[in-house]
Amino acid sequence: MNKTNRMRLSFSSRPENESFARVAVSAFLVQLNPTLEEVSDVKTAVSEAVTNAIVHGYPHGADGEIRLTVTLAPGENTAEIEIADDGVGIENVEQAMQPFYTTQPEMERSGMGFSVMQSFMDELRVESAPGEGTRVVMKKRIA
Ligand code: ATP
Ligand code: MG
Repeated sequence: MNKTNRMRLSFSSRPENESFARVAVSAFLVQLNPTLEEVSDVKTAVSEAVTNAIVHGYPHGADGEIRLTVTLAPGENTAEIEIADDGVGIENVEQAMQPFYTTQPEMERSGMGFSVMQSFMDELRVESAPGEGTRVVMKKRIA
């Protein structure tokens, strides 16, 4: 089984759906026979990206759509995970990705979400523009 296998989900930007997204990704990932650590790394990164879409992409509890796409390439032993929103977007992506940078310090955010994604995944790419939403693409090799 060397062909890619893809799944797509779309869900509302509600905090309850953060754990749903995590579980959905790990359930789909099982077919690559990941270790517990690999599953846990991916869950942590998904959690950060989905939380960002909910709290920053659609601020003040605004109703929005979050799309989650997972593409497995068993031949290459990789999982690519994309989390996309149509929210407010990010003005300066490079700055937003710096450790400790946050636009919500008063909400007790530490500005470590992107750093966590970076350290738990093998690749991280962020595409965003003000008013055009945000797309986070992460890759993980599954040994
Ligand atoms: P923490 O993740 O530690 O709780 P944080 O969410 O502020 O804090 P990061 O996840 O690193 O830190 O994100 C940094 C900044 O990037 C955010 O404060 C926000 O301004 C911006 N950002 C991140 N994701 C999005 C998104 N999906 N839409 C709009 N802005 C975003
Ligand atoms: Mg965050």
